[in-house]
Amino acid sequence: MGYTMKYPIDKKMVAEHLAGMCKFPTRTHRLEEMIDFKPFDDMHEYMKEIYPLIHEKLEWEIVGRDALLYHWKGTGKSDKLPLLFMAHQDVVPEGDPAAWKYPPYAGTIDENGRIWGRGAGDSKGNIVPEMEAVEYLLSIGYTPDVDIYLGYGYNEEVGSGLKEKSAACMIMRTLEKRGVRLEGVLDEGGGVQKGENFGIDSANVATIGICEKGYADFEIIRKDAGGHSSAPEPNGALTYVANAILGIENNPYPLRLIPAVAEKFRVLSQFMSDPEQKRIFSDLEKNWAEAEPIIAKDRKLRPYFHTTMAISMARGSAQANVLPEYASVTVNCRILAPDTVDSVREHIKSVIPEGMEIELQKGCDPSEISVWDSEFRRNVMEVAQTFDPKPIIPVPDMVVGGTDAKYFNTISENVYRFIGFAAVGESGGAHVVDEYMDTDKVASACDFFIDLIKKYEVK
Ligand SMILES: [Zn+2]
Repeated sequence: MGYTMKYPIDKKMVAEHLAGMCKFPTRTHRLEEMIDFKPFDDMHEYMKEIYPLIHEKLEWEIVGRDALLYHWKGTGKSDKLPLLFMAHQDVVPEGDPAAWKYPPYAGTIDENGRIWGRGAGDSKGNIVPEMEAVEYLLSIGYTPDVDIYLGYGYNEEVGSGLKEKSAACMIMRTLEKRGVRLEGVLDEGGGVQKGENFGIDSANVATIGICEKGYADFEIIRKDAGGHSSAPEPNGALTYVANAILGIENNPYPLRLIPAVAEKFRVLSQFMSDPEQKRIFSDLEKNWAEAEPIIAKDRKLRPYFHTTMAISMARGSAQANVLPEYASVTVNCRILAPDTVDSVREHIKSVIPEGMEIELQKGCDPSEISVWDSEFRRNVMEVAQTFDPKPIIPVPDMVVGGTDAKYFNTISENVYRFIGFAAVGESGGAHVVDEYMDTDKVASACDFFIDLIKKYEVK
């Protein structure tokens, strides 16, 4: 059964708009001078065509090289601070186009109403419902009682560690300079999921990202004289690397509990079927001695409880009969607060052989943690609930990947990684071949944003 829209918006048109957005190969790069901005500029022209009222009636501007910031001035009747809805324009590379069922930038809509293409889910599928909602409300002559901002950066996918060079950070600084503080921010990284995924039949689960782990890639390097492999010396460059790997693997960060994670499992525990598990996870702090061995054995649970260090790349010489002059291993770290990029570097230094260099390739510290019990969060949940036949359980979450949201804690306490797609239809993952989005899903989010804006009406 398809999703029936609450507001008179043509679902087919929404699908066509998303498909159209997917036609622009808005690939990004860590170095701004390496980004081809033509597809971004072309996409902006397309957005002007499909959202004419937004571009006519809202203040809008380009921030940095090509980020978009829209401002819809409210009546001022509401004493609430403005809301910001976010997403990002850039996409990850498509990989081998031949591996795709439909070409990655064709914007194909199949007979089942699935929109296929790079960016369909991550995150043009968020831009479209946010703009569709505003365009619809403008078309009926509506003015919100609260100010609404829409903000779309262009380097989220390479954003970890870009700091001030992140387009999202530039948007935040633009608002900060104008003295804008925000009632709430919504960005990618969470949403309503079917309860079955959590072993819950009677309800669906809303994961709401209130914080994200930090990130760092360290290359650990040993330089050596090299030479012909027929006359090797012991303890060559790769032996150093091997010892560094062992040092890291044998000295993992101990498991520990942070309050945001304790709260997540407290909420989830109410729905666990195993009574023993339910008891332990309902209060991880109190039951830590019992919980720790359970967590230690579970690959999916462990990342929530410590900084991880994954050995992911290694380099030796380019040929079998040449000794390496440069050997290295790259360690990908996901950092749990209060650890930092610097403290992880010190930890790695302390467990690898002397005489090696550590180079930080990119990194950013863990985000701040948003307030959980806020009026904005409750409003978001109340609106999401109206689109779901089952009760929704809101669960605070720590996002293990990175998002643009982290920059906004400077101007808001209520920054949530949550987009209000109802638990209908499917979306085919992020960063994968055959990325897609169901029309029903993206359509449901249009209704969600309309009602969230209307929630701030002063009666
Ligand atoms: Zn994304």
